[in-house]
Amino acid sequence: MDALKTLKAAAADPYVYGAAIQAKSGKKVVGNFCTYTLEELIVAAGAVPFRLCGTKEDISLADKHLQSYCCSLVRGGLEDALRGNLSFLAGAVFPHTCDSIQRLSDIWRLNAGFPFHIDVVLPVKLDTPSARTYMIDVLAGCKADLEAALGVQITPERLHHAISLYNDIRGTLGDIYRMRSADPGVISAGDLYHVLKASMIMDRDELLPLLHTLRDELKAGAKTAPSTVGRRVALSGGICNHPDIYTILEECGAQVIWDDLCTGTRYFEGQIEENIVPIEAIANRYITRMICPAKHLSVTARGENLVNLAKVQKADGVIFLFLKFCDPHSFDYPYLKKFLDDAGVPNILLEVEAQLPSDAQLRTRFETFVDMLK
Ligand code: SF4
Ligand code: SF4
Repeated sequence: MDALKTLKAAAADPYVYGAAIQAKSGKKVVGNFCTYTLEELIVAAGAVPFRLCGTKEDISLADKHLQSYCCSLVRGGLEDALRGNLSFLAGAVFPHTCDSIQRLSDIWRLNAGFPFHIDVVLPVKLDTPSARTYMIDVLAGCKADLEAALGVQITPERLHHAISLYNDIRGTLGDIYRMRSADPGVISAGDLYHVLKASMIMDRDELLPLLHTLRDELKAGAKTAPSTVGRRVALSGGICNHPDIYTILEECGAQVIWDDLCTGTRYFEGQIEENIVPIEAIANRYITRMICPAKHLSVTARGENLVNLAKVQKADGVIFLFLKFCDPHSFDYPYLKKFLDDAGVPNILLEVEAQLPSDAQLRTRFETFVDMLK
């Protein structure tokens, strides 16, 4: 499976891949931290959106700017910027979402030294008519900022191309997710994690044919895929930068068959209408897509979505996976847990940082949880 190999190689060493993009395609690379980044505009500007997921290195430089009680995503991203590990970025786009990202944006602008920096002040409450009007204005502003920063004109043709590209990428990722949920033997959860991660960093024109090939190969191999045993679990939280979690869970008798993560379904769910004004169509997706805890719909929207997800994907249990010190996810946790408890869906909470807890600790927790599911 050459397609899977290529995707996994990009995901395993994202900065090596990122550093090679401009030489390979002439495209500029735009860093970001969040699924509200309006990536379609970046692609329409001829650049590559590149998701930053924190660092694996020790954090020291970032600690001069951020308190140690900020999440490891924010501290790790700043650390890599200050160490020069992200010198391949032309700039960054910061959608204003949680408090930590908003503060990071200010510090980044003043200290990271990239050629451009764009703040995108999105609406917080999304289910009002004025939110839609405001979102369209924000998109138009972000488009103008990108045009100035990257020296291009984002024409309607470029927008149409970006929309159709993203619809295809998101649709194909959804197909692969559904294939795994129906038959976890077709691709391991760890491999699927790498596919998702690659999808958030690769040149999207290079990515799409690889995803198509992978989907077709998985479909063709589905009948001969090894049968898998294990309880079906879904992950819910923010980002996961720990592929080992998927493997350890599998060894403890559970298969991750779905998720509600920023490095998962939150990245690809929601298609964009192709036959209306492009900016309005993109705005529609961002206000109708299922929210993360940094945005508001009804007070029960995320709880209902999580219970429904567990039901539709036949999950035996849910593992909440949060980064330590992540306020938005921690604030939503009690009510989400209550929703799952009331629906009879067993669940546990695992908080991680840049490094995972010890292997033995994780295995004990997972084995205990999997035993509860029997
Ligand atoms: S939880 Fe929300 S704010 Fe945080 S990275 Fe994900 S989409 Fe962005
Ligand atoms: S939503 Fe949580 S994990 Fe994501 S950047 Fe904000 S505090 Fe960090």
